[in-house]
Amino acid sequence: MKPRDLTRYLEDLGWRDPLDLPVEQRRSEVSNETPPDATVGAAPEFTDLAGLAQFLEGCTRCRLSEQRRSVVVGEGAADARVMFVGEGPGAEEDRTGRPFVGQAGKLLDRMILAMGFERGQTYIANVVKCRPPGNRDPKDDEIAACSTFLDRQVEFIRPEVIVALGRFAANRLTGTEKPLGALRGRWSHYKGVPLLATYHPAYLLRTPADKRKVWDDLKLVLAKLAR
Ligand code: SF4
Repeated sequence: MKPRDLTRYLEDLGWRDPLDLPVEQRRSEVSNETPPDATVGAAPEFTDLAGLAQFLEGCTRCRLSEQRRSVVVGEGAADARVMFVGEGPGAEEDRTGRPFVGQAGKLLDRMILAMGFERGQTYIANVVKCRPPGNRDPKDDEIAACSTFLDRQVEFIRPEVIVALGRFAANRLTGTEKPLGALRGRWSHYKGVPLLATYHPAYLLRTPADKRKVWDDLKLVLAKLAR
């Protein structure tokens, strides 16, 4: 079914843009911390998600281990059809050990529900599993240290579609430096899995006018899954 046909079909069923709901602005944090160099040891081998999670509980492969409260491994169904990948944990995720909680997480939950899924039917993860202090972007060596874990998650879950949330994750997974506006709405692949980039829910909290664009992107995902 083409995206335009899918839109008409959904609207005929009485759906409206489910992302068009009031949300609060997200607070950002500021840090002047200057971290030490990353320390990368040999990456262990895992046979399943449980083994991966067990290792990550004590992971010290990069400097992000020094100030974290929790390793936010990721959560969801081991056989998820859709995998969402964000940048890294924020303060609330660091506190709870769960990905995408707080206001941005609630908006992601609404996005998932709008697609016809429960949150637990999908898998939600981040490029790095520990919170960068002050919500700064992860550094290249931190990404290099942690990327093997995201790769293993993709290999174990083998989702039908990966949705990259925000420019950082989109750049990391597509291997480009293009702005998100140039990446969204176009399919690429990550480890053989179809990949679509869209705006991060935290961005939508600041720019709610772009919710329509995200819903358009999610309809492309639904059309891909329907094939
Ligand atoms: Fe380990 Fe990744 Fe956390 Fe670095 S960010 S300490 S590599 S789990």
